[in-house]
Amino acid sequence: MPISHRYRSSQFLYAMTYVAVTLAALIFLNIYCFEVGKRMVYRNKEYALLEKCQLACDELAQPEALTPAAIAQSLAQLESLTASRLIVTDSAATALYDSAGEAVGKHILLPEVLLALEGESRFDGSYQNRYVLCRCAAPIYKGGAIVGCVYMTEYDPVRGALIHGLRVHIFQITAALEAIVIAFSVFYYTRFSRKIGRIMDSMRIIQSGDYSHKVVAEGNDELALLVQEINDLTDQLQLSEAKRSRFVSDASHEIKTPLASIKLLTDSILQNDMDRDTMLEFVADIGNEAERLNRMTEKLLTLTRIDSQPGGEQEIIPILPTVERVQRMLSPTAQAAGVRLRLELADPCPILIEEDDLHQIIFNLMENGIKYNIRGGTLTVCLRREADNAVLTVEDTGLGIPEDARAHIFDRFYRVDKSRSRSTGGSGLGLSIVHALVQNNGGTITVSSEIGKGSRFTVIFPLFDTEAAL
Ligand code: ADP
Repeated sequence: MPISHRYRSSQFLYAMTYVAVTLAALIFLNIYCFEVGKRMVYRNKEYALLEKCQLACDELAQPEALTPAAIAQSLAQLESLTASRLIVTDSAATALYDSAGEAVGKHILLPEVLLALEGESRFDGSYQNRYVLCRCAAPIYKGGAIVGCVYMTEYDPVRGALIHGLRVHIFQITAALEAIVIAFSVFYYTRFSRKIGRIMDSMRIIQSGDYSHKVVAEGNDELALLVQEINDLTDQLQLSEAKRSRFVSDASHEIKTPLASIKLLTDSILQNDMDRDTMLEFVADIGNEAERLNRMTEKLLTLTRIDSQPGGEQEIIPILPTVERVQRMLSPTAQAAGVRLRLELADPCPILIEEDDLHQIIFNLMENGIKYNIRGGTLTVCLRREADNAVLTVEDTGLGIPEDARAHIFDRFYRVDKSRSRSTGGSGLGLSIVHALVQNNGGTITVSSEIGKGSRFTVIFPLFDTEAAL
């Protein structure tokens, strides 16, 4: 399934969650503030109404009996007593007086009335349609006994308007805050999406093979950091791509030369009517070229192996026996070249390395020391300990390496003297293999040389004494 089908914007999800959470918090605060505001208004009203109610109760405690006439007379004394409605009941909750006149003779079974008849003064408030409705009831005591109760209701449009205003203002503030949250969420979401979109576009361009493409970084957030990382990665890809194509073209070029020679030699054999000895000479040359190709292919394969799997199976191996083995292998070559081999091996020098790698390093260096030596020259291989290191030097008495070439001799396909190197079967790969192998196994290699006197290659590996390791 293509990624676009599965793609869901996590940033959109975060933005929506953020909006939803803030909305929920604001709704909660909205309700909470509204309720607290209402309660404050009710509390403020409660004292005034209970006081009024108590005043009426005290006045109604004066007459002998609670008759409608006596109640009306007592209430008439209280000029300041203003209420929307006032009901006076007897101890059985039957209305004796109702300012609205509707409830007289009926049972008033309101909770406030029932509680008041049990001796508890009670206040309740509610908010409806921009009005605050307050209900209040208090018992009338006479001679220590409850003889009835006063029930009052009051509609308060002023406090109702206050609560309404509070509600509107809280709602407006909530809406404004939520609008700000949404605006910020949309702003950051679109900005983030735009940036991600741009990065994705660049990634597609890079994916199509254009490693020179650079992703443009904006700001200094984590996306800018990511962009920086991507650009570093493409730089590396570009570098290794350039290395790869140079390697391929160098390798093709190197392979072309012996192939061209083989073609030339076979054409000559086919076209000329040559004698048997010349033909045998030509065939031997073809064999040599084929052998060179073979050697080069092997070296190319070694390089590919080093590049593709830099870390092999390392083990603790003494260098000394490997040097002796290589010496035995190269003795015939040295003899043929008139080069004397001299070994100064003081210590076995155990190191942590892949066995084949160690062999290849020593072989290539010693083979070069013979190849680029002079007849009657000497190749000295010296192995010694220096502090915690094993130091191997391969020193010849050959032509030496010019100073400007020393920086390049470890490059692939580099040869100081192409014609001499070719004549000795060189491919310019031996030292690059040595360099890569030494590095992969945690060592270092350096070269010093003097023209006309010879060259010395020094390889240093950290020692790995078994006792020390234990
Ligand atoms: P080649 O297969 O051509 O020998 P190398 O990578 O082994 O390739 O060496 C690279 C070049 O470095 C050689 O072509 C040669 O010119 C130079 N070189 C290497 N070793 C020596 C040496 N011991 N003395 C002089 N020149 C050397």
